[in-house]
Amino acid sequence: MNVILLGPPGAGKGTQAEGIVKEYGLVHISTGDMLRAAVKNGTEMGLKAQEYMSKGALVPDEVVVGIVRDRIVEPDCEKGFLLDGFPRTVGQADELDKALKGMGKNIDAVVNIVVEDEELLGRLTGRRICRTCQRPYHVMFKPPATEGACECGGELYQRTDDNVETVKNRLDVYHNQTSPLIEYYSKQGIIVDIDGAKSVNEVFDQINTALKAKV
Ligand SMILES: [Zn+2]
Repeated sequence: MNVILLGPPGAGKGTQAEGIVKEYGLVHISTGDMLRAAVKNGTEMGLKAQEYMSKGALVPDEVVVGIVRDRIVEPDCEKGFLLDGFPRTVGQADELDKALKGMGKNIDAVVNIVVEDEELLGRLTGRRICRTCQRPYHVMFKPPATEGACECGGELYQRTDDNVETVKNRLDVYHNQTSPLIEYYSKQGIIVDIDGAKSVNEVFDQINTALKAKV
């Protein structure tokens, strides 16, 4: 079974990816990690990617897809794979489909974890870090015993990455990039919407039910 996992920042995608990979014996293909590995190993695609990255430019779709294709043809992917962080655009999705077709493979399901922006804002902006020991807290999920203070006595602060404006921007970027993708896979009839506002276990149960139906 070959699966794509989609979900906004704060949706708990990492945790769910781990669960899916374990349950179905899939190879976890995280494109960020792979791109770095390809560059490090100096593969043909890795060298191409490095050319763009060193100029601070975006790595073009054909190069990213090439790196994913190189990984998918490895024998361990015969059992199936989970794509995480890829494709990001319809262009990449289209290239991926062509590459898979050439290998006699296809995507069986696109798991789309859906969470309202308001909920994501709460999750993502609630994080606080200790200035002294870097221990993480969360105003809702892991509040400190004393407001604004770490167990060690250090002062808690909010990273700029976690402020409302930055988080709103990240969510906007995600929606703008992803809505055409969702449409693309909806047309193929392989998208599965998952209610990501539930607990980690409940979210996993929904995913499991949906994927079991595809096996
Ligand atoms: Zn501390």
